[in-house]
Amino acid sequence: MFGKILIANRGEIALRIQRACREMGIKTVAVHSEVDADAKYVKLADESVCIGPAPSAQSYLNIPAIISAAEVTDAEAIHPGYGFLSENADFAERVERSGFVFIGPRPDTIRLMGDKVSAKLAMKKAGVPCVPGSNGALPDAPEEIKAIMRAIGYPVIIKAAAGGGGRGMRVVHTEAALSNAVIITRNEAQAAFGNPTLYAEKYLENPRHIEFQVLADEHRNAIHLGERECSMQRRHQKILEESPAVGIPTRLRDRIGTRCADACRRFGYRGVGTFEFLFERNEFYFIEMNTRLQVEHPVTEAVTGIDLVQAQIRVAAGEKLNIRQRDVTWKGHAIECRVNAEDPYKLTPSAGRITQYHAPGGPGIRVDSHVYHNYFVPPNYDSMIGKVIAYGENREQAIARMRIALSEMVVGGIKTNIPLHLDLLSDAAFLNGGTSIHYLEQKLANYNKPG
Ligand code: ADP
Repeated sequence: MFGKILIANRGEIALRIQRACREMGIKTVAVHSEVDADAKYVKLADESVCIGPAPSAQSYLNIPAIISAAEVTDAEAIHPGYGFLSENADFAERVERSGFVFIGPRPDTIRLMGDKVSAKLAMKKAGVPCVPGSNGALPDAPEEIKAIMRAIGYPVIIKAAAGGGGRGMRVVHTEAALSNAVIITRNEAQAAFGNPTLYAEKYLENPRHIEFQVLADEHRNAIHLGERECSMQRRHQKILEESPAVGIPTRLRDRIGTRCADACRRFGYRGVGTFEFLFERNEFYFIEMNTRLQVEHPVTEAVTGIDLVQAQIRVAAGEKLNIRQRDVTWKGHAIECRVNAEDPYKLTPSAGRITQYHAPGGPGIRVDSHVYHNYFVPPNYDSMIGKVIAYGENREQAIARMRIALSEMVVGGIKTNIPLHLDLLSDAAFLNGGTSIHYLEQKLANYNKPG
């Protein structure tokens, strides 16, 4: 096992990884930007190194600074967390070339999955059901593009092969709107991702977002840990997740989960990963794979009892999985609410000093957050300041516990989305379960109606 790990991230996930390391007796190095210097989790780490000024491009995305921090501290491995460099194949390659272990899949796997056209082709070959679409990149000739779209059937969604973060996508309802949409999306893709390659999919009108967690070692053992429902999204970003997803028959879960684990074995996948699907009319359609730890991993930990971060570190160190598929059992229900520093209905960010802080507790409650009384939320990064996870014997109990936890929680001095979560937790459609990815946007549109 590693003696020392450098954590190339910040905020709650840096703290989460640090806790896993401490439990395993591994020393930690925190890297931080200038504005994060005083954060408590930075002080709690065994060592810390400042890697640059506040803007991410100069600190958390600064590859040479991170690698030199690992060199001067004699770290053996680098954990990228989520976001930032976690799905950057060049970073993973430079980490390994510099003699450190990258806690994640091999660079070529990250590259394969980072190009959504190649990822979908690979999944199709591996027997994972995909959204029907262009089966590869869109050609240049307008007539050929038209023929492909007719075969898919309108509405279609045009997407950037290198896209991410909900950007570089456009829905097209008619052939008349097609050529313009292709030109605009191509330009956007070139500008945002430096790659103009596009592909197309059938646009599903009312799907749910359901994803499968996998765990694999480098000895071709792979298992799945079931699914998470992540349909509560605004601006294509998840805010509330749960496991299991309401109304998914066990046999269907086993079938899709097994396909995902088989695909991992086939690709020689290593580490934790997530297969994202859209789910409509009882069918799963693969959209993309995330080759890293997810924000919402704790709901899977709660229902399976498996510590995903520790498992991820063990397989990165070359260990064999110590659990087989038949040993995985699911018990109870877990919900996660992402607490964001933002206006709950307008969604505008709300950075600043936290003048009052009280974290909830009690049976079944877990709080993953790096903030505390008098902590300053910097305006430079993602607005998420923590996550509350509620576990119960069943969904009703998990929801009841979450409601109590969020009503106890106090975050003063800044705005948070806790009121929106409390609204959702008593929303009839949410309580019923199975709402689509558009539900929250529609609800927010009603709040924001003038008058
Ligand atoms: P990104 O990597 O940018 O997150 P995804 O391919 O994962 O892109 O898609 C993000 C979101 O866009 C999905 O969660 C869903 O809300 C919507 N979406 C993507 N593909 C489709 C589709 N074929 N039909 C309907 N909605 C889609």
